[in-house]
Amino acid sequence: MTLLPNSAQARDVAYLLHPATNARKHERTGPIVMARGEGIHVYDDAGNRYVEAMAGLWSVAVGFGEPRLVDAAARQMGRLPYYHSFSGKSSEPTIDLAERLVKMSPVGLDRVFFTNSGSEANDTVVKLVWFYNNAIGRPEKKKFIARQNGYHGITIASGSLTGLPTNHRGFDLPLPQMKHVSCPHHYRYAHEGEGEEAFADRLAAELEARILEEGPETVAAFIGEPLIGAGGVLPPPATYWEKVQAVCRRHDVLVVADEVINGFGRLGTMFACDHYGIRPDVLVVSKQLTSSYMPIAAVLFSDAIYQGVADGSDRLGTFGHGFTASGHPVAAAVAMENLDIIEERGLVANAAAMGEHLRARLAPFADHPLVGEVRGAGLIAAVELVADRATKAKFDPVGAVGAWFYARAHDHGLIIRAVGDSICFCPPLIVTAADIDDIVDRFAAVLEETA
Ligand code: PLP
Repeated sequence: MTLLPNSAQARDVAYLLHPATNARKHERTGPIVMARGEGIHVYDDAGNRYVEAMAGLWSVAVGFGEPRLVDAAARQMGRLPYYHSFSGKSSEPTIDLAERLVKMSPVGLDRVFFTNSGSEANDTVVKLVWFYNNAIGRPEKKKFIARQNGYHGITIASGSLTGLPTNHRGFDLPLPQMKHVSCPHHYRYAHEGEGEEAFADRLAAELEARILEEGPETVAAFIGEPLIGAGGVLPPPATYWEKVQAVCRRHDVLVVADEVINGFGRLGTMFACDHYGIRPDVLVVSKQLTSSYMPIAAVLFSDAIYQGVADGSDRLGTFGHGFTASGHPVAAAVAMENLDIIEERGLVANAAAMGEHLRARLAPFADHPLVGEVRGAGLIAAVELVADRATKAKFDPVGAVGAWFYARAHDHGLIIRAVGDSICFCPPLIVTAADIDDIVDRFAAVLEETA
C-alpha cells in the first residue's frame, strides 16, 4: 500500500517503532491513526467510526471523552501538576488514593506502592519480595513461579514472569529465577475426559511438585492473573484458585494476584479476587484504575511484608526503589474521580449484567463450524477459532486467521483483539445491551466472511 507523502501514516512509518507490532509488516500497511473518542466509540483521522470492543487495551472502563476525568486532571494540573514521593515528600491525591485502595481492596492488604505501568508494578513486586526476604534473613527464597500464557508485562523481570513466547523471543528472557507451570485452560490442556475439578487437582499437584523440586526454601512467590487476559481470555477451571492457594500456604509461598486487567469491575465484582475467593499477599492493579486516561499502577501488599521491608530499609538507611512519577498527583486525582464514576454509576453491577448478555449472545457461536470454544466471565470473553472442531486442531500457521479477522473487523467498524486465533472482547464497563448486540452483530458479519 502506498502511503500519502507527509500524511500522518507516512510519518508514523518513518519515525516510530511500535510496541507489540511486526515492524516490517507495519511499514507495508501503515497505522490507523485515532483522532478522538466518545463513549464506546473511537474515530480515526479519516472520520471512520469504530466500536471499541476492547476498551483500548482492556482498560477504558468509563469510555472515551469522559469530561469528569478531564476536569479532575485539569484541576490537579492547576493546583500541583507534579510532585514526587521520594525522601519524605508526598501529595494529597496520592495519599487519598492509597487510603482508598487499601480500604476497598480484599482484606489483609495494608500498604500501597505506586508505579506508572503494570510492568513496573510487577517489577516492583519482584524487588519488594526479594528485598523482604533479604531483610527477614532468608536470602535464598527468591524464585517466582508463574504460568504458561500468563501476561505480567514486558520489563526484564515482569517479562520473565510473562509466559508467552513472543515476549521472550529475541530478548534473552526469562531470567533464571522465573519458572513457569501449566496454563489452566481446560479446553486446551485438560486430558481427554478430565473434568474441571480433576484438571484443577492435577495443576495444583504439578505446582506442589515444582515447589518441592525447586526446594520450598528457594521459592518466594506464585503469581497469576485470576483470569488470564492478554494470553487469550482464559478463565481458570472451577476450584483452581482454592487449590493452588492451599499449596502456596503449605510451603510459605506468597500469592500474588495480578489484576491489571481484572481489577475494578471487569469480572462483575470490584476485584477478581472476590470472584474467585483469592486471599492474595500482594495485589497489582492498573488500567481501569484511571480508565487509562493517565498512566498509573499500584502494588498493594500485606502488613507482614511492609514490616519486613520497613525494618530492612531502616537497617540500610533507605528503600532504594521508586520512579520519578510514583504516585503522580494528576494520575492519582484522575483515579479518584474514575473510582467515583465506577461507584456512582454502578458500573461493576453493569459489567456483571452486560457480561451475562455478552456470553448469552456469543454462546450460539459454539456450534459454528469454525469455533472451538466460547469462553468468558464477567464482561470479558473470547471465541476461539479452530481448523478442526473435532480434534481442536489450530490453524497453520497459528494466528493467521486471527490476524485476518482483526484487520477485517476494522472494515466492519469493530475493534476486537486476536490472540492467536482467539477473538477477544473486553468492552468498556459502560456498555448497554444494545451496544453488546451491535458488537456481536458486527462480529457475526466478519465470521460469516471468514467461513
Ligand atoms: N499485568 C497484566 C495482567 C496485564 O494485562 C498487563 C498489560 O496488559 C500488564 C501486567 C502490564 O501492564 P503495562 O502494559 O501497563 O506495563
